[in-house]
Amino acid sequence: VFNKDFGQHILKNPLVITSIIEKSCIRPTDICLEIGPGTGNMTVKILEKAKKVIACEIDPRMVAELQKRVQGTPMQAKLQILIGDILKNPELPFFDLCIANVPYQISSPLIFKLLLHRQFRCAILMFQKEFAQRLVAKPGDKLYCRLSINTQLLARVDIIMKVGKNNFKPPPKVESAVIRLEPRNPPVEVNYTEWDGLTRIAFLRKNKTLAAEFKHTSVLTSLDQNYRLQCSINNVDVPKDFDIKSKVEEILTTLEADKFRARTMDIDDFMKVLHAFNSAGIHFS
Ligand code: SAM
Repeated sequence: VFNKDFGQHILKNPLVITSIIEKSCIRPTDICLEIGPGTGNMTVKILEKAKKVIACEIDPRMVAELQKRVQGTPMQAKLQILIGDILKNPELPFFDLCIANVPYQISSPLIFKLLLHRQFRCAILMFQKEFAQRLVAKPGDKLYCRLSINTQLLARVDIIMKVGKNNFKPPPKVESAVIRLEPRNPPVEVNYTEWDGLTRIAFLRKNKTLAAEFKHTSVLTSLDQNYRLQCSINNVDVPKDFDIKSKVEEILTTLEADKFRARTMDIDDFMKVLHAFNSAGIHFS
């Protein structure tokens, strides 16, 4: 009996498993982190190729299955099992490659955990098809969103295969896709808190112009507060006639970014806008 809370849909089609394993390009020296091994259908295939597998599984019943499966085989010595919630694991162990087929509720936190960890070659991840499409969406695509740009800032992402629901037992309600994610190396040089602050404002309504998004009182109030705080930290006086609204307008029009809309802006566009604001002493955090 599968536990719905843990999103247990076991991959039953061996062709799909073989294909995922092939596309993972596992090297004999690799330490592989598998998240949500379930009954171990993929785990045993990874064990054939990798030096070591660290499998993190939340459900003790699944852990028991997996242990039974490798017991008394040469694979046993290569498998380390971590019992618990991967998201609650404060620090990920060292690994070269991550393979995960986890419940779709944890897609977003998991991908950000991996992106922040960064210290690995590649991750092969099964997601709901629409989530995967968001990750790889380019400026102008219908599904382009904050998730797309934040992910692509930190990594290269591609969809490597689509997987229909009937390849799972029990079948989930949605279609799936497997993505490959490679952290950018060296990482992009940007203050992530500032980046996050700007992209949150811009993508609040991604079809509106930046000029419109930056007219909101709540946005202007917080930018004004940040500005005044910065001034006091740096021990400079706030100019008497300082008006955040006209300052922001001036920055955007000088850059000709007032007509930009998040839905078509790429990483470089956001970098330019962020740089212009920050150079003028306007901060998003
Ligand atoms: N990998 C197996 C397969 O492909 O057949 C099982 C996939 S099943 C969709 C998801 C697995 O992730 C389940 O075994 C579930 O118990 C486990 N899981 C769910 N949430 C988890 C979490 N937060 N941390 C670790 N494992 C989790």
